[in-house]
Amino acid sequence: MHTPRSSLDRRHFLTGTGLAAAGILVPSRALAATDSRSQPPTPPDAGASGRGPQVGDAHRGPCVIASGNGPNATERAFKVMSAGVDPAEAVVAGVKLVEDDPKDTSVGYGGLPNEDGVVELDASVMHGPTHKAGAVASLRNIKNPAAVALKVLQRTDHVLLVGEGALRFAKAQGFIEENLLTPESHAAWLRWKESMGADDWLNPEERDWPRPGRKTLDEFLADEAKQSRAPGDNAPIPFTWGTIHCSAVNADGDVGACTTTSGLSWKIPGRVGDSPIIGAGMYCENEIGAAGSTGRGESLIVNCGSFTIVQYMAAGLTPTEACLAALKRIVDRTREKRLLNEKGRPNFNASVYALRKDGAYGGACIYPGGSFAVTTSDGATKVHPCTPLFDAQ
Ligand code: ASP
Repeated sequence: MHTPRSSLDRRHFLTGTGLAAAGILVPSRALAATDSRSQPPTPPDAGASGRGPQVGDAHRGPCVIASGNGPNATERAFKVMSAGVDPAEAVVAGVKLVEDDPKDTSVGYGGLPNEDGVVELDASVMHGPTHKAGAVASLRNIKNPAAVALKVLQRTDHVLLVGEGALRFAKAQGFIEENLLTPESHAAWLRWKESMGADDWLNPEERDWPRPGRKTLDEFLADEAKQSRAPGDNAPIPFTWGTIHCSAVNADGDVGACTTTSGLSWKIPGRVGDSPIIGAGMYCENEIGAAGSTGRGESLIVNCGSFTIVQYMAAGLTPTEACLAALKRIVDRTREKRLLNEKGRPNFNASVYALRKDGAYGGACIYPGGSFAVTTSDGATKVHPCTPLFDAQ
């Protein structure tokens, strides 16, 4: 098990500030770094985390980072940003590729729906230089919620629009309403609904159909479609969480961040995860850097996940250390029995990503499995495993 470095020891924390009163305990040098508004945080000595130098510690200069499902997004955002577009707009352009991709069942078009079979999307975006944010939650029928969130940021005095109001705003901004269910996500929802054993929905064992020896029309159509599909298209759809986060810093050290998702599959209609909550699913401060999260949104909300990472970077932790320290807070504050495994650790995973103003970057997860994509100052795009807090569940 990884033990965060001694600088996180409570003895080193202030206790009398408003942040401390709110439960966010920040070392004094963090406040100094935040208040000065000019100095990038000083990286700690290599090896201070107990894990040695991590990928991304030494990188400097323009950079775009995303969750592991976003190598196309980082590449696109980097290209857009390099043409002089603001990082906040560039990350929205990057995640659009994933929102538009019907094969990513965690985001935008093709995202898994709520328990009623309706896709509800959450997204947020934040602009470092103005410290302004925009977000939408429970948005239906609009494929690109991150672009709507950007309009909220750019064209309103508000931060978060939800549900019907968010949809009306999107339409007023020229976004087109469309059905976001794909045949695959619809079929996955039907399978889930039928497996619930509730109401009058019959699961496959209960149905007197198909008739013996007969092929159903659905089977015939599926066979027909299969012949025109690429290998691997029939892989099972994961029924879980999923999201893309993307953060960027340009050559001037300006940062932007964005997170977009269809959230937890089969959720209660109206359930909102961390992704559109500023400070939970995404956060940035132009003097420090940006952070974002994927995974169990409820835990990231109650622990202010992304805000905490940025404050830890201000305190001098490297991006990877800051991510690990924020995850440790989540682990330490997960107390409900239903969320704990036999070792008393969370029975869920979360992955978090951080990008410092000077270009250093990193990603961490509670348990192995998470990954992050990064496009660096040399233009190269790579996917790296997140550094796990624990080596196994
Ligand atoms: N964090 C997202 C949510 O809870 C889902 C995910 O990232 O997997 O809505």
